[in-house]
Amino acid sequence: MKKRILGKTNIEVSYIGMGVLPIGPNQLCLTLEEGSEVVRYALEKGINFFDTAQYYKTYPYIAQALKGTNYEAVISSKSLAASYDEMNSAIEECRKSLNRDVIDIFLMHEIRTGDFEGRAAAWDALNDAKAKGLIKAIGVSTHNVDVTEDMAYCRECDVVFPLINYAGLGIRKGAAAGTPEEMLAAMHKCHKAGKGVYAMKVFGGGNLTVDYQNALEFVTCRDYIDSLMIGFGKKGEIDDAIAYVEGRMASDYNPDTSKKRLIIEQANCEGCGRCKAMCQSEAIFYNLNGLAEIDQSKCLTCGYCAPVCPSRSIIFY
Ligand code: SF4
Ligand code: SF4
Repeated sequence: MKKRILGKTNIEVSYIGMGVLPIGPNQLCLTLEEGSEVVRYALEKGINFFDTAQYYKTYPYIAQALKGTNYEAVISSKSLAASYDEMNSAIEECRKSLNRDVIDIFLMHEIRTGDFEGRAAAWDALNDAKAKGLIKAIGVSTHNVDVTEDMAYCRECDVVFPLINYAGLGIRKGAAAGTPEEMLAAMHKCHKAGKGVYAMKVFGGGNLTVDYQNALEFVTCRDYIDSLMIGFGKKGEIDDAIAYVEGRMASDYNPDTSKKRLIIEQANCEGCGRCKAMCQSEAIFYNLNGLAEIDQSKCLTCGYCAPVCPSRSIIFY
C-alpha cells in the first residue's frame, strides 16, 4: 500500500484509510471480536490510517485490534464538542480508550457554515492540547465547500477531511448545495496551503458503490488528495479497495450490493422531511426525536430519497 505524508505534519498514512464507523453500534453493531477482526485485517493489508470519532463509540474495536501487536496505526478522531471542557474531555476519552499518550489527529467533527465561531472554545482546546503535545495535528471534518476553503487560510489547521464524491451527494455551500467541482477546488487550495487533505464519503454513503470504479477514479486521479477514508464493515470491502488502487481489479468488476439496505444516521439528520416527501413507499417516518427513520419492511432500496438529503444522512450499506 502506498503511503503519503499529510501536508506539513510528518504523519505518514496509507493511501487508503479505514473509516471505522460501519463496524460500530451506529451501523453494523458488530461484536468486539468481529469488529476488531475487521480492523486487524486492514492492518494486515497495509492500512495504517483509521478514522473514528467520539460519537461513533468505536475506540474499543481499535484498541482490541492493536492489542499485543506491533502495528503503528495513525488514529484520526473527532468530536462534536462546542465548549472548551467538552473538547478536553473528548480528547481525554480518546487517549484513555486507545491507551495512547498522544493522539495523531483530532478534528472538530462536522463543521458547517457559520459553525466555527460558535465552537471557537473547542478549537482553542484542540490548539492547547496540541501545544501540550497531546495531539500531533488538528483540523476539521466538513461537508461544506466554504468551510473547506476557509481552512486553507487557517494558520492553526493542519489537516482537512472534506466530503467529496463525483455525484456531489451531501456537498454543501452555505445553506445550499455545493458542487463536486467547487469542493475539489477548495481541497486543492488546502493542499497548496500545506494542509493534509483526506477524502470522506467517496461513495456518497454507499449510494455510489453500484458505480464502484467510477467513484474511485474520480478521486484517485487527483494528486492533491492525500488519502481516501473509506468505511469498511467487511474484509472483502478492504480487498476491493486495495485491488482497485493497486490496479488489480478487472474493469467489469462491481461489488455485490444486493444485500445492502438504507439507514438514516441520526446524528446528521436535520428532520427537514425532504426524504419523506420523496418516498413513494411511505417507508420513512419521524421518530420521537423528530428525526427521520426508515421502516425496512416497506423500503424498496430504490435510493430515491438519498440524493435529496442535504446532510448526507441516508447511507446504503
Ligand atoms: S430507498 Fe426508496 S423506498 Fe426506501 S426509504 Fe428511500 S425512497 Fe423510500
Ligand atoms: S432529508 Fe436527510 S436531513 Fe432531511 S429528514 Fe431526511 S434524512 Fe433527515
